[in-house]
Amino acid sequence: MPHRVLRALAQPTIDHRGRAFASMAREAMAGLQRVFRTSSPVAIYPASGSGGWEAAFVNTLSAGDTVLMPETGHFAAQWRGVAERLGLHVDPIAGDWRRGADPDAIEQRLRDDREHRIKAVAVVHNETSTGAVSHVREIRRRLDIAAHPALLMVDAVSSLACMDYRHDEWGVDVSISASQKGLMLPPGLGLLAISERALAAGASAGMPRSYWDWRPMIAHNAEGFFPTTPATNLLFALVEAVRMLEEEGLANVFARHQRFGEATRRAVAKWGLDLVCLDPDAYSNSVTAVMMPAGCNADEFRQATLRAFNMSLGAGLGKLKGTTFRIGHLGDFNDLMLAGTLSGVEMGLAMSGVPFSRGGVGAALDHLSAAVSPRQSEIVKSEI
Ligand code: PLP
Repeated sequence: MPHRVLRALAQPTIDHRGRAFASMAREAMAGLQRVFRTSSPVAIYPASGSGGWEAAFVNTLSAGDTVLMPETGHFAAQWRGVAERLGLHVDPIAGDWRRGADPDAIEQRLRDDREHRIKAVAVVHNETSTGAVSHVREIRRRLDIAAHPALLMVDAVSSLACMDYRHDEWGVDVSISASQKGLMLPPGLGLLAISERALAAGASAGMPRSYWDWRPMIAHNAEGFFPTTPATNLLFALVEAVRMLEEEGLANVFARHQRFGEATRRAVAKWGLDLVCLDPDAYSNSVTAVMMPAGCNADEFRQATLRAFNMSLGAGLGKLKGTTFRIGHLGDFNDLMLAGTLSGVEMGLAMSGVPFSRGGVGAALDHLSAAVSPRQSEIVKSEI
């Protein structure tokens, strides 16, 4: 978290029914719309990302509705659990947790569903547990090719403000995110962007909903207010974080994450370790998940680096526990922080007796120090 965000958080909490609040909240919502790249309503709940998952379902679906869910990793599996506990019927697409969702498989299921029982396709954009990305634009295209009316729901928890994400242009109906990742805030906000189609689906949806009902949220938001007590200080921080992202320029933020992802992958390759993600087109720029060599325990290695360097690496999650570790490189992160992080990993591997080749840090530094050509940055700018 940047100091500017911490200072914004530290302001005195103001009356959330007052005029000053309304103008600040409007700024927060407008900023979030720009980050989601949408002109549709956004909803900001005092919640975590899991609350966003639940809000997406209860506002648009009815018990027994079918949701098509590709299992790309731990978070896709967790989201599936939410759907099942809410009484939805999940049509899963099995996966090996080493790549993104398969657009061919999604298209085939949709084509086979002639009676349109599938009411939503729910995809995790950046699978934080595996470091593999699903191609949302392509999945939207397949829904259109199959001429299927299902809603498209996307978990953008660890991609928003790290990697290119376009709610409107990609035809996403509900995008879900949270404050604690690319937005550089503490945990505590569950964030949604909601298409007109999703709003319309809500009118006939039969799920019971109270706290998560986005209708009173959107109605109050129009005046700059919230139906219940908002997380006021997190909204101050959100305004400041979006300001920082826009000062840097979202295109440059994405390019920075791309460099960090690539530098990290070069380090891992030099160490002779395998990435969890097997598909180069699906490499994540916010997190890199790494396989431990057979016979080595990833959690013991993580404990050793924590003790020696006070550096916390991500654990393997779900069925990847103990066999993988994750290097986060998202948010308020710069070249030297990445260099330090990778140095900690390289020293930790050596200390823990893990068989590996030295030189990963050097390979990463070579990549980081190679200047991005003006031509490349022009391309990035023109694409945004
Ligand atoms: N989705 C993804 C991709 C995540 O990485 C996470 C958490 O890390 C979640 C959902 C769940 O969000 P939360 O832990 O904020 O409830």
